[in-house]
Amino acid sequence: MKKAVVLGGGIGGVEAAISLKKEGFDVELISDRDYVYIYPISIWIPTGEVSLSDVALPLHEVAKAHNFTFTKDKVVSISGKENKVVLENRGEKTDFDYLIIALGQTKLKHKGIENTLSICGSPEEALKIKKKLDELIEKGFGKIAFGFGGNPKAPDAVRGGPVFEVMFNVHNYLKKLHLRDKFDITFFAPMPKPGARLGETALKLMDKMFKKMNIKKITGKKIKEFEKDKVILEDDTKIEADLIAFTPAGDGHPVIKESDLPKTEAGFLLIDEGCQVLNHENIYAIGDSVAIEGPEWRAKQGHLAEVMGRITANNIAVKEGIKEGRIESYKRHINIMCLMDTGDGGALAYRSDTKALLIPLPIIGHWMKKAWGLYYKLSKLGKIPRLPGM
Ligand SMILES: Cc1cc2nc3c(=O)[nH]c(=O)nc-3n(C[C@H](O)[C@H](O)[C@H](O)COP(=O)(O)OP(=O)(O)OC[C@H]3O[C@@H](n4cnc5c(N)ncnc54)[C@H](O)[C@@H]3O)c2cc1C
Repeated sequence: MKKAVVLGGGIGGVEAAISLKKEGFDVELISDRDYVYIYPISIWIPTGEVSLSDVALPLHEVAKAHNFTFTKDKVVSISGKENKVVLENRGEKTDFDYLIIALGQTKLKHKGIENTLSICGSPEEALKIKKKLDELIEKGFGKIAFGFGGNPKAPDAVRGGPVFEVMFNVHNYLKKLHLRDKFDITFFAPMPKPGARLGETALKLMDKMFKKMNIKKITGKKIKEFEKDKVILEDDTKIEADLIAFTPAGDGHPVIKESDLPKTEAGFLLIDEGCQVLNHENIYAIGDSVAIEGPEWRAKQGHLAEVMGRITANNIAVKEGIKEGRIESYKRHINIMCLMDTGDGGALAYRSDTKALLIPLPIIGHWMKKAWGLYYKLSKLGKIPRLPGM
């Protein structure tokens, strides 16, 4: 039986491991955390609606349910030429026929970034946002700045959705505590139209939401630096804030940047339509680690990482002659599909070549996202059947 090693136990890596096992491969998943951190539902950590354990799915249990091996270790280097991975604790690893890279991404480092906290960082960082918010609530008033940055070298790596979600959730949480009028909330972003990839209708709707929620908006000005309790923009505009919840745009993973594998200037892996790393027959890459090619509104998303995981398993199985079929392309699956949560409801954002929709879903939107979280956990543990395409 041929062996596939998957690096990274996030949304993409787990889907690849499950799918490769289904195709009949011997599968080992290696990750530095022993749980899948389910990012889409981590947005409720700051307001205390979920705890870390609600958002963490133990990888040992997923591995047991799908009969693959899980190894907790950190990847320190990958060599394409030598077909080798080096792990922090176990050293060199060459016992694989196929390697699937799903290590995710890191974030750009702005000057003074240590004065900010991101919902798209480590689980510990999300807990720090909660702690800071709790302190401000205890004090009874405060100023909060929410923002996200851009990466001209990787437009698909901008992550704005979760920032909007946490901001809207915090607004509604403060409202529920009858404290909203005691807090200033400001949103900032360097691009003139943040969220533009969702289309014009979505932008108009978001503008209405900002006004209704009394959220100040400063956009189209580059970020100069962050100081303690301050965001400084290119024209020296200063946004005072007790809490700066800022998410920089994504940047290539350091292990990939230092590897000999083909990558973009920003450090994202170059793959073909079938997710094979260019010029490397047995190395595949999926999810946030890769440079996605497609329309200018394309984005790195969890559902695309999952599709790439399934496509990779199919394509390797076809290549090995395990099954008949054709090599599939990830490109026809590029769309934006996001249930944007506001705490008291939500909106379904959808973007494809032909459509740009933002459908408001008052009340039910929130519960739909909760239901998705539950579905994700139970289906990955094999406790309920998978819905086709999900
Ligand atoms: C707050 C937030 C909310 C989001 N909401 C949505 C949403 O609603 N819908 C949607 O479609 N997408 C959403 N996304 C995007 C989605 O979560 C990502 O696109 C998806 O997680 C990418 O999957 P991945 O497997 O490529 O990377 P990740 O999920 O980031 O997984 C990478 C894995 O690699 C491991 N790893 C990293 N470095 C090493 C190393 N050196 N050695 C070993 N292991 C390592 C990490 O621990 C992690 O387990 C959201 C993202 C964030 C941050």
